[in-house]
Amino acid sequence: MSLTPLKTGLENAMYEVYALKYAERDTPACQFFYRESSHEPVTLHYFVWLILGGPHPVLVDTGFLEDEARQRGIRHYVSPAAMVERAGVRAADVPMVLATHLHYDHWAGHSLFPKAEYWVQREEVAFWTGPCARYDVYRQVANPESLARLVAVNYAGRMRIIEGDREILPGLRVHRVGGHTAGLQIVSVETARGRVVLTSDASHFFRNVERFQPVQIITNLPEMLAAFETIHALAGPEKLIVAGHDPEVAERFKTVEPGIVRIA
Ligand SMILES: [Zn+2]
Repeated sequence: MSLTPLKTGLENAMYEVYALKYAERDTPACQFFYRESSHEPVTLHYFVWLILGGPHPVLVDTGFLEDEARQRGIRHYVSPAAMVERAGVRAADVPMVLATHLHYDHWAGHSLFPKAEYWVQREEVAFWTGPCARYDVYRQVANPESLARLVAVNYAGRMRIIEGDREILPGLRVHRVGGHTAGLQIVSVETARGRVVLTSDASHFFRNVERFQPVQIITNLPEMLAAFETIHALAGPEKLIVAGHDPEVAERFKTVEPGIVRIA
């Protein structure tokens, strides 16, 4: 599968992309990779991603609030809003958030960005307000209070509930892949270095997408495998793939200061 080249090509290669780390935790590999037997610890980093250089800043995901870090034993928490400010953008000046999915670590911090409009897939909203919410297997990765606020935010005119792939701005697109969650969307961004693919939790670690090894938090396993194919197809020869929770992001790309990694 190959993607048609963007008509507007170079003139869209104006974006800069930053990964902003706001927390970390360890987990045994067997709790994380699908049918993995190893009990070796793996470290997850938690990120939001900031896209600059367009008509306005665009934030991908919102992180979570401090209470969540305490309850879940997550260390080195820094407010995602503080990280965005360290990257030079006031949290109240973020007009657009692309919410890749509604797990607690991607959505529970949305109130930190009070002026933003949140773009999320219709299937994702349906899932977290639907029949599976009663089961602990999904409850574990949800923050119900922040999910309840979907309704209030929607009636305040600040939700953009979309379906499928969409060009958000010239050279900036979302692609619905599902798999890990019902309506997971990934983000592609044209930059001077080539096309960056922000996989979010379509690939927590580089190992997921590179070895086609799924995570074990899933709604649809074949869709998760197809998502790996989509990531490879979207990424150009530069392979600017950014895994969603991998500490190696800081080594594969350029760390400009602690917690701030310039992708392109
Ligand atoms: Zn996540």
